[in-house]
Amino acid sequence: MRFIFYSNTNLRIKKIFKCILCGKYSISFICKNCKKTLRPSFIKKDDVISFYKYEDIEYLIKFKYEKFGNFIFKEFSFAFYLFSKNFSNKLNIIPIDDKTDKGYSHTAILANAMKKDKKLYSTLHSKNRVKYAGKSLEYRLNNPRNFEYRGPENIDVILIDDIVTTKITINEAKKVLKTRNVNVLFSLVLADLRDI
Ligand SMILES: [Zn+2]
Repeated sequence: MRFIFYSNTNLRIKKIFKCILCGKYSISFICKNCKKTLRPSFIKKDDVISFYKYEDIEYLIKFKYEKFGNFIFKEFSFAFYLFSKNFSNKLNIIPIDDKTDKGYSHTAILANAMKKDKKLYSTLHSKNRVKYAGKSLEYRLNNPRNFEYRGPENIDVILIDDIVTTKITINEAKKVLKTRNVNVLFSLVLADLRDI
């Protein structure tokens, strides 16, 4: 729910929202108190680094395809900003399949927060528009994304994705990039669901 207040004093428009986590009025979709509970951590499984436990963000991730999904991802992108700030090397960043279907792309929002790094937007897109959400491992294996890479060759890169469920997408992306001598150092994601 959203209300717009007109301030008499300076004629600035102030938007007031209801926090989607606790329901209290707030100047953003997630109030200050709830933001504190969303502090990112650093979880490493093989070459995938994730920032949140899936159960901690599951409720918010469900809004991903809503109109305000971009605001939710902007909140999450803070984790990527912190990583970028604290990681000394300047990195080449590839957001996986950053198509702007609804005017924005989830992975591009996350990559955009990595201020000092070089972003290679729209370089790795899938040709197959299959949706994996809720699909079985067998379905995912039988319906590859068929990525196409249009970026520079002979470089080291970091991949950005939102959720890792089986790692099929990342592995497929790595395979395609390898044919162009693009080496994936590691991948950064919001949450990694794999049990390792
Ligand atoms: Zn709240």
